[in-house]
Amino acid sequence: FPTERIRNFSIIAHIDHGKSTLADRLLELTGTIKKGHGQPQYLDKLQVERERGITVKAQTATMFYKHKPSGISAGETHRVNDFLLNLIDTPGHVDFSYEVSRSLAACQGALLVVDAAQGVQAQTVANFYLAFEFNLTIIPVINKIDQPTADPDRVKAQLKSLFDLDPNDALLTSAKTGQGLEHVLPAVIERIPSPPGKSASPLRMLLLDSYYDEYKGVICHVAVIASAATGQVYEIFDVGIMHPELTPTGVLFSGQVGYVVSGMRSTKEARVGDTLHHARSSVEPLPGFKPAKHMVFSGLYPADGSDFDALNAAIEKLTCNDASVSVTKETSTALGIGFRCGFLGLLHMDVFHQRLEQEYGAHVISTVPTVPYIFEYSDGSKVNVQNPASLSSNPGKRVVACWEPSVIATIIIPSEYVGAVITLCSERRGEQLEYSFIDSQRVLMKYRLPLREIVVDFYDQLKSITSGYASFDYEDEEYQASDLVKLDVLLNGQPVDAMATIVHSLKAQRIGRELVEKLRKVIDRQMFEITIQAAIGSKVVARETLSAMRKNVLAKCYGGDITRKKKLLEKQKEGKKRMKRVGSVDIPQEAFHELLKVS
Ligand code: GDP
Ligand code: MG
Repeated sequence: FPTERIRNFSIIAHIDHGKSTLADRLLELTGTIKKGHGQPQYLDKLQVERERGITVKAQTATMFYKHKPSGISAGETHRVNDFLLNLIDTPGHVDFSYEVSRSLAACQGALLVVDAAQGVQAQTVANFYLAFEFNLTIIPVINKIDQPTADPDRVKAQLKSLFDLDPNDALLTSAKTGQGLEHVLPAVIERIPSPPGKSASPLRMLLLDSYYDEYKGVICHVAVIASAATGQVYEIFDVGIMHPELTPTGVLFSGQVGYVVSGMRSTKEARVGDTLHHARSSVEPLPGFKPAKHMVFSGLYPADGSDFDALNAAIEKLTCNDASVSVTKETSTALGIGFRCGFLGLLHMDVFHQRLEQEYGAHVISTVPTVPYIFEYSDGSKVNVQNPASLSSNPGKRVVACWEPSVIATIIIPSEYVGAVITLCSERRGEQLEYSFIDSQRVLMKYRLPLREIVVDFYDQLKSITSGYASFDYEDEEYQASDLVKLDVLLNGQPVDAMATIVHSLKAQRIGRELVEKLRKVIDRQMFEITIQAAIGSKVVARETLSAMRKNVLAKCYGGDITRKKKLLEKQKEGKKRMKRVGSVDIPQEAFHELLKVS
């Protein structure tokens, strides 16, 4: 395929504005998938994506399309040309903007999809600027025009005032009814430039993504930047395009996006952002990607009854599929040997857990997530703290200063909610940086907020105080000096390292109080009394007691009904699956989750 007839484009949008549905329609329109294939959001392949109805992983698909240049006359059929179009569907949630930026690096253009009724939302703004930074041609697509509340003119005005996009360039579509879809691909071909790439230069491929396939091993998605002929490929078993599944073609040309199956055995060899080239030629590596920035860290441990090796293997495979997770081994006095993992955000963390369990059958206990802090000690050393338990409690090594990561948040809301949002942001130690109207009814605010205050439940709170109308996005900012303390949780007087958290000193007392109350509710009564305490250093700030259980589970069984007895014991075992025995106390997984919700 000549480079001039290749287009690489991506679909970007705020969550739920219709990216995946639009991608489906384009795949159908080009015959890449059958109409009514029964599975909406075709490219959302993961079980988590289907269950949650969100895209977490960018997906690529190659389509072929016969393009008729506008104004062509009936006799000029020779001007109808086949085009090769690479579509990259991207996730919309803020946690996954890393995936978005990776996809954009392989594109020359993007469809910026905006819901005709909701208008521009926070992630529309964030995605626009990402695409803009990558110098992409942006085609505004106002989708869902079939809705009774659709107001395309208002959206056009927003696009003009916020992004200086010409309202005449906007396409009006309904991915639901099919209205206007016929204009999408012609616009892609006519407005987006073909990819650069000279056939004569040596082969260079940008490694976009990699995943592990049980049968084929490591599969790499690549963008070919400079061309090479078949047969010259070194240790490559299969090359092809995603059409929409792996389709061998034997060759990839300059500008194309496709996959490569090579002899890679270990997933660690497939470094996303790497440059692949011929063994014999030496090339300048392509500019890679910014490394993923980890916003939250949490410990992952095998739940009781499941073993470390199985968890280790599962994590290794999954991290090949999701290169944005960082993993290091760690040991906890309470939980044993496990891993400290860094995630892009809490949703990303949840999704990672879910995938570990669903796709790899691992049973995990995760500890309270924390953001990465910086602490300086009296001996002059500065450390990056990703695990609160690792904070020094050595009296000769006092903390003299600390810093916490912050973000710049963009919030878009209807103007009647401004008061409520300002209150929420100031409770979360936010500082207002910007306040402007994007049209007569909507306000855009920017805040500097400590990352710790937004990772947990900020978005849920924001949604609930604005009846679901707020949209929110953030980008990370510099570290800010702060006043932080370590809050310990003690069970029967023993500190549980996996439950320690780092909190702002002004909030420590209240958080400690709420923590022990929550823990008292989720820890089951046991055969003995349990005291639950929260402490800062040696000072106990809150205390609760859980009295001993009087009856055991079998006491409910009168008579000798063996099957009932068995059932009850089974049930008890079920319930124990996600338990971890710490000292003599059984702690359920929810205990760690509850800790997380206190902020
Ligand atoms: P994404 O998060 O941007 O990928 O959004 P999805 O493609 O998953 O769509 C979100 C929801 O909007 C789904 O329930 C779709 O069926 C619906 N949807 C998508 N396009 C349209 C449209 O043009 N009109 C209407 N009425 N609904 C749509
Ligand atoms: Mg989607």
